[in-house]
Amino acid sequence: MSQPVALVTGSSRGIGKAIVTQLARDGFRVAVNYYNKMDEEHNRAEAQAVLDAIIAAGGTGIILGADVSTSAGATELVESTIKQLGSLEVLVNNAGINRDQLLIRITDEQWHELIDTNLSSAFYCSKAAVKFMMKKRYGRIINISSVVGMAGNAGQSHYSASKAGLLGFTFSVAKEYGPRGITANAVAPGYIESDMTKNLPPETSSKMAEQIPVGRLGKPEDVAALVAFLASPAAAYINGQVIRVDGGMSI
Ligand code: NAP
Repeated sequence: MSQPVALVTGSSRGIGKAIVTQLARDGFRVAVNYYNKMDEEHNRAEAQAVLDAIIAAGGTGIILGADVSTSAGATELVESTIKQLGSLEVLVNNAGINRDQLLIRITDEQWHELIDTNLSSAFYCSKAAVKFMMKKRYGRIINISSVVGMAGNAGQSHYSASKAGLLGFTFSVAKEYGPRGITANAVAPGYIESDMTKNLPPETSSKMAEQIPVGRLGKPEDVAALVAFLASPAAAYINGQVIRVDGGMSI
């Protein structure tokens, strides 16, 4: 593996952007995925800017538009990555949405949109990736879950169900494909500064920071550092684990 390949879903901004940038810095050729069903031009431009910065820093990669909440979109994304970059060693299932709402107000459509985007996407992408990785007898699947998937949160019953679902999925994939050289792990971020959390009132954010032992909210780079380690050869014996990146918030 002179220059292994990594695909990070939803990597035009936020945590995914930090992950794909770190993996490129670590020598991976990367596929930057942007969502192509809404605001396509804007998202493509954001993804291109991420790739431009990677190239300026000496890395290589491509951008690929896809809607990973659909089987066809996710499968094509993985297959295009393999076709255009010639391989796939690391898949990071990062794309996700939150649509905070009380259980009694969540519509069936909202439930399915969230589960499709946060959970089914990991199934679709992993299925396509594992088919390729099995032949090479090597692969790393890293699922971005959440501490909310382990503890629940009022107003996030659909979100926490999707993130808890990712954990069961991770454990099963780890058992099923560990014997074939493919590991699967989950990362559970706490409260990370990104577009997903920027609309919370400042007083809520500062109150939360006070309750976090390290005294601050997390940064996308804090999550990226762990994902990069899990993607590295040094993490070969870590399989089927959930690792929190939350500044100690959940202890
Ligand atoms: P973000 O800033 O909202 O970014 C989410 C990314 O996912 C965006 O690039 C978005 O594309 C993409 N995406 C959404 N739906 C997609 C689809 N159907 N197909 C392809 N891409 C899609 O969120 P973030 O904070 O970076 O979160 C990244 C991951 O970490 C998510 O899974 C989230 O649940 C998880 N997480 C976040 C936190 C936190 O505190 N921020 C904590 C725990 C876990 P667009 O640009 O088009 O929207």
